[in-house]
Amino acid sequence: MTDKKAAQVLIELKDAAFAYDGRPVTPGMSFRIMAGDYVSILGENGSGKTTLLKGLLRMKEPYRGEIIFADEMKKQHIGYLPQQSGLQKDFPASVTEIVSSGRLNRHKTFAFYTGADRQAVQAVLRRLDIDNLADKSFRNLSGGQQQRVLLARALVASDGILILDEPTAGLDPMASHEFYKLIRSLNQEGETIIMVSHDVHCVMHDATHALHLDRDFYFYGPKEEYMDSVMAASFLHRTEEK
Ligand code: ADP
Repeated sequence: MTDKKAAQVLIELKDAAFAYDGRPVTPGMSFRIMAGDYVSILGENGSGKTTLLKGLLRMKEPYRGEIIFADEMKKQHIGYLPQQSGLQKDFPASVTEIVSSGRLNRHKTFAFYTGADRQAVQAVLRRLDIDNLADKSFRNLSGGQQQRVLLARALVASDGILILDEPTAGLDPMASHEFYKLIRSLNQEGETIIMVSHDVHCVMHDATHALHLDRDFYFYGPKEEYMDSVMAASFLHRTEEK
């Protein structure tokens, strides 16, 4: 990663707060996400984490404040791995078909996949070390492999920024560990990562920044600062108890 890229602001929030039906669900938040950051979003259930992700994906407007996106950040070029992917685990399609569908948002009207699409898909399958699964049926894969395929689909849609919402929910500890390792290497290769996760300890090892969200307050800052904070101490203690 070049210094120029590291200094580039991708998204800036200025007192951005979200509400449903006029009822605020988050505090006003002000922070900047820079290219190459790995932002770990933490907080209790219902604290607004998914809502914030929707704001970052431009699927939801803040009711107050603003979110400023860098010019080159087009909505369709953010890779998104939602909490529920919408894909049934027994979806009858091949791995290549599923990953290729991540390219559809690049086509203004429906069209056949181009040579560039096919190359991008092959490159992502190799990058995630799943090219051996290319012709396999999605429904015959393990949970960990399925999540890797869905990550590939998000990655093939992305121009360097990935948003993930609890991607390891439902995976066993070993598969989760492998998944986080993969995210870490993508970040080391320059991908910007914004991820909600309950595996606080795991993620804090790799993240550069923490965003801890609560209904009335929040923390955003470098991971080291967060780990030294009272907020982290009480949250980590609570998650250990669970
Ligand atoms: P988290 O991801 O941290 O669990 P959410 O962003 O899903 O939190 O939800 C934050 C709050 O907003 C919760 O109180 C939730 O009930 C409420 N909420 C979420 N989605 C909607 C919606 N579509 N309509 C109304 N309220 C919603």
